Amino acid sequence: MNTLQIYNVDENVASNAWVDHERYLTLYQQSIDNPEAFWREQGKCINWIKPYTQIRDVDFNYDNLHIRWYYDGTLNACANCIDRHLPTRAHQTAIIWEGDNPSDEAYITYQVLYEKVCQFANALKKLGVKKSDVVTIYMPMIPEAAYAMLACARIGAIHSVVFGGFSSEALANRIDNGLSRVVITADESVRGGKRTPLKENVNTAAKLLKETTLDSVIVVKRTGGDIHWEEGRDYWYDDLVNNASLDCPCEEMDAEDPLFILYTSGSTGKPKGVLHTTGGYMVYASLTYRYVFDYHEGDIYWCTADVGWITGHSYVVFGPLANGATTLMFEGTPTYPDASRCWQIVDKYKVNIFYTAPTAIRALMRFGDEPVKKTSRQSLKLLGTVGEPINPNAWEWYYNIVGKQQCPIVDTWWQTETGGILLTPLPGATNLKPGSATLPFFGIEPALVDDKGSILQDTAEGNLVFLNSWPGQMRTVYQHHERFRNTYFSNFKNMFMTGDRARRDEDGYYWITGRVDDVINVSGHRLGTAEIESALVKHEIVAEAAVVGFPHDIKGQGIYAFVILVVGKEGSKALCEELKLMARQEIGPIAVPDIIQFTPGLPKTRSGKIMRRILRKVASGEFDDLGDISTLADPTIVESLTLNRVIK
Ligand code: ATP
Ligand code: MG
Repeated sequence: MNTLQIYNVDENVASNAWVDHERYLTLYQQSIDNPEAFWREQGKCINWIKPYTQIRDVDFNYDNLHIRWYYDGTLNACANCIDRHLPTRAHQTAIIWEGDNPSDEAYITYQVLYEKVCQFANALKKLGVKKSDVVTIYMPMIPEAAYAMLACARIGAIHSVVFGGFSSEALANRIDNGLSRVVITADESVRGGKRTPLKENVNTAAKLLKETTLDSVIVVKRTGGDIHWEEGRDYWYDDLVNNASLDCPCEEMDAEDPLFILYTSGSTGKPKGVLHTTGGYMVYASLTYRYVFDYHEGDIYWCTADVGWITGHSYVVFGPLANGATTLMFEGTPTYPDASRCWQIVDKYKVNIFYTAPTAIRALMRFGDEPVKKTSRQSLKLLGTVGEPINPNAWEWYYNIVGKQQCPIVDTWWQTETGGILLTPLPGATNLKPGSATLPFFGIEPALVDDKGSILQDTAEGNLVFLNSWPGQMRTVYQHHERFRNTYFSNFKNMFMTGDRARRDEDGYYWITGRVDDVINVSGHRLGTAEIESALVKHEIVAEAAVVGFPHDIKGQGIYAFVILVVGKEGSKALCEELKLMARQEIGPIAVPDIIQFTPGLPKTRSGKIMRRILRKVASGEFDDLGDISTLADPTIVESLTLNRVIK
């Protein structure tokens, strides 16, 4: 690898931060040496109805697998996000909403949030929704989506949010799996100026369900577009809530009662219905929010994730609201009306903390520095990323151009399964290395193991596992406990397997090298996808790259690279040679791609992650069986890729 720049802790941030490096080390050590004591104390970061006396009861052993936290305590997640703040911050903005159209905005105070959520909760009750019923939420990024999640939590119903960009088939599967009786939706959603017929998709989904449990559809009027109405099943949100009482008591929930179901993104296969419970999840979301984003009273916080993803659950809704923060919800896309949109929003609301995904950063980089530089961004003090490995040069751009070298970047590694962030720098406490998610959060014990499950010491590369539980860990795959055990606990004994691979460097920093399924084995050498891709995107006209292995007579596997160029550039033979040289110089001869295909797009999940499993099929010419593509953002890209496949 080339020489690496380390970004030392920013003194300005450090002076104000919750922890410095010394304190991080001390607290971390305590949390590992005596987890019971540590989590007993941290559990108090939320309010309990009946305080817990028991901290954890966990066994990662396949045969006796169980995970319980704070299990004799009772609480309500919604009360923690709203009611507890009313005495001190009723008139503070809880949610800022910025519509797709830059002139649409709303400010929702904690008091108004309380009223909206109580009314919604009462409306749900009136429709017969009870504790532990599953309610499906299929919504645009509008405040009603958050109201719906919180209203469910208030009455003890389990929400299952389905991303508003999903098709009716994907929606039907999820309604069916959760045996939902109620779906909450909107007439249409608006993103990037385009409308999506959500209600129409619900109608189609309902028809796809043979023996459906679905009996009520609640519709928020977002655009007023034409919709087909089914009397007796469909209800306007306004009609239901307008006359509902402003008062709705919170259901007292056991710590281990389910809070929500959420499906993983589907990057590696069929999505898993991840189940999170109430107490541990709330403690973990709340605590990580405060430390990782170094949240202080008055900060304006914006996470661009959709509520359809785990990031939208933990770090748009539950984490920030549990801390009494102001959280910004954005309905639109980063490039509409133009590539300055994010920074205009930052300036408009004086956003201090900004959290997004590498896919958005790469997309914005394609437009160059100008759209960023024409905005001020003076309010920013912290930047974050999540979702995929961030290529070091995208990191540098984020740091230098967006953050003007004044904001630390928290590269946060986590999963739907983990409920909250597990690997991350802490602002003011951790020196940064571009592309590394750095160190574990308090109480988190990562390890690297070889394929037999032996723990690797010191600097190493291997399967990323966790040796111990944390409160925000998923409890099961909804209605498929066997799948839970088999997916995460069967390969390596007494460890939680993440499905990712990572490298640990001489400072103990973790670098995600890619998914286990995506590892390329060239002449017996294992290569992670992330590092080869990062080498390729160092070229100034390369915007994005994805590499996969393909069968190779001599090497076992060869390297096939799909490359997207910046706007206005074209691929050439000479460029291929330059890229091969870059890979050779950055990593070594072993990492030189055998084949390079220039492409205008890549197959991505709706959450913006590259689906390398589809690229593998394209690279090896197996076009027939592409596996589960229900979470693919743009299916037409697959055809363009197969048509332009390069054969050596
Ligand atoms: P599925 O499990 O259905 O294949 P998915 O893994 O993409 O989908 P998510 O839970 O949304 O679903 O994503 C978690 C994964 O995202 C991680 O396992 C990791 O591969 C990747 N990831 C998340 N954050 C980071 C990060 N900061 N650095 C590197 N990779 C990350
Ligand atoms: Mg996953």
